[in-house]
Amino acid sequence: MLKCRQLVALSSDYLDAQLSLRQRLAVRAHLAMCWKCRRFVRQLQLTQAVLRQMPEAPIDDLDERARALAAAHRDSQG
Ligand SMILES: [Zn+2]
Repeated sequence: MLKCRQLVALSSDYLDAQLSLRQRLAVRAHLAMCWKCRRFVRQLQLTQAVLRQMPEAPIDDLDERARALAAAHRDSQG
C-alpha cells in the first residue's frame, strides 16, 4: 500500500499516463481508500487542464490582431 507522500510523488506521472501498470494499480488502490489523495489528484488534474488551455503568447497575438483590425478600419475609410 502506498503512503500519501508516495502517491503525491507519483500523481503527476499518473495523470500523464507515464506509470507502469503496477504503479497505476497501486495509485488506484490508494485513491479508492483515501479521499484526501482523491481530492489532491482531482485538483492537480484541473490545474493541468487549465495550463494546457492557456495560449502560448496571448499578448503578441492580440497586438497582431489589433494592428490588423486598425489597418482594415483605415482601408475601409478610404
Ligand atoms: Zn492518501
